[in-house]
Amino acid sequence: MTSTVPAPVRGATAAPAVPAAAADAEWLTCGGCRVLLYRKRFDRLLGVCPECGWHSRLTAGQRLDGLLDPGSARAVTPAESVHDPLGFTDLVDYPGRLSRARESTGLADAVRVVRGRIQGHPVVMAVMDFRFLGGSLGVAAGEAVTAAAEAALADSCALLIVTASGGARMQEGALALMQMAKTANALRALDEAGLLTVTLVTDPTYGGVAASFATLTDVIIAEPGARMGFAGPRVIAQTIRQELPPGFQTAEFLLARGLVDGVRARGELPWVLGQLLAAAAPAPADWGGGVVDVVLRDPATLVRRPPAEVVRLARHLDRPTLTDHLTEWLDGFVELRGARDGAGDCRAVLGGLGVLDGLPVMVIGHQKGHSTEELVRHSFGMPSPAGYRKAARLMRLAAKLRVPVVTLVDTAGAHPGLEAEEQGQAVAIAESIALMGSLPVPVVTVITGEGGSGGALALGVADRVLLTEHGTYSVISPEGCAAILWRSPERAGDAAAALGVDAGSLLRLGVVDGVVPEPPGGAHLDPARASRLVRDAVVVALRELRTSEGPALVATRRARFRRFGLTNDRRP
Ligand SMILES: [Zn+2]
Repeated sequence: MTSTVPAPVRGATAAPAVPAAAADAEWLTCGGCRVLLYRKRFDRLLGVCPECGWHSRLTAGQRLDGLLDPGSARAVTPAESVHDPLGFTDLVDYPGRLSRARESTGLADAVRVVRGRIQGHPVVMAVMDFRFLGGSLGVAAGEAVTAAAEAALADSCALLIVTASGGARMQEGALALMQMAKTANALRALDEAGLLTVTLVTDPTYGGVAASFATLTDVIIAEPGARMGFAGPRVIAQTIRQELPPGFQTAEFLLARGLVDGVRARGELPWVLGQLLAAAAPAPADWGGGVVDVVLRDPATLVRRPPAEVVRLARHLDRPTLTDHLTEWLDGFVELRGARDGAGDCRAVLGGLGVLDGLPVMVIGHQKGHSTEELVRHSFGMPSPAGYRKAARLMRLAAKLRVPVVTLVDTAGAHPGLEAEEQGQAVAIAESIALMGSLPVPVVTVITGEGGSGGALALGVADRVLLTEHGTYSVISPEGCAAILWRSPERAGDAAAALGVDAGSLLRLGVVDGVVPEPPGGAHLDPARASRLVRDAVVVALRELRTSEGPALVATRRARFRRFGLTNDRRP
């Protein structure tokens, strides 16, 4: 991790923007596509090339100016640290190298720490400046990141770290290495205090920074093209002589592998970060007061339909999907992606933070689609183990932030396949079920379409479980059951009836607590209205639950599931 400092990092995304000619500073050459750019326009575009989208490297000062509300910045001065612990000399002595870096950047070291506001929300920022000895992590930089975490803890506000680093600073030896542990511990203290931590990964972020505070935060956003990794491509090539794929270690490469939450263009960042900070802020006490309770709780009030028709309606492609609900309900939803285990980002399960009428919520659910193309993109709503592990990560984050969890279930089942088995599909489902039973925050589940087996229950262990009027919930698909017990998949209608997959049967069993009405004829005929009805049902459930948390809430949730299948006089 130490070998990339202070050597320049090469690659299409890394070259600095250079003046086209020393005498003509009005023009510069794009480091991505080499096109000639007018500097004033380039600056107006925040250092992003209008032709190819290349994001140039910013100084810490430019970054702070670009993100913080004007006039809100207040510098935080980290504690004094040793300057040259080893008396290190290579081709030049380290003190000389340091003083030249200080002169050329005007900075004391590679990290600036500032208290400020983003979109009105208080935040402490630690921003790395790559110009200062390649953003290397030495004692002063580690101390600055730690001081930032401690300032956030003192202020009870969020921490935002902007990374840009070649790795640990060799000239400070083992003391530089220790900064990884020091900063990691400082971030864990924020986890224990329930304070949001966010990393903005900029190009490049390597070695000791990537393997400590950069990747220990709740949310990792990367700029397009920004590279992050433990070992740099040159080190890998020299050590094991392995050929590396195009785009290796770029933000997009990391996103596809579930290692970062999102790749966001520079212009979007104040909005995205502002939304994340809003989702970690408290909601008003009288929240949800005006919403009317639409949920049906008496099976006798439900219209009976033939089970085969219910199954058909539950699978109708025009029913609102998860993303339709998110668009209809939430202000500023920020999708959070990946389980951070390198197994890929499952697109059959989506989730993220949003604000529901002023209440921050973590929404997670299965995503299907309205067309074949969408269905293929989202694996027909059949998650891989990575999908359940992503959901688990988001649920743990909700627990940390004390934000309620809303899950929307719509799946024929978890993905059956070789890869899913290799990656532990059964374990991922089991762990998600157990985790939900332990979450110290309110959990509301709505089965909005198909509730297929363990793949549905993995997102369905909630304080309130609701079902839409034409939704289904079943231990196995009617076709699967018919094939096994009737020895004929054509008998799926009989199987659906026998299994009791419809709202009335499920309400009578107590498996669902209530039924959300659908517009006449079904949700597919008026998806927007159907979505608003689900939203109102969720608001009412959250209104009832939102003041409960901790062990009492967990005990009540576990008691709900403990009762299933017992005769009335045996119920605890
Ligand atoms: Zn360009």
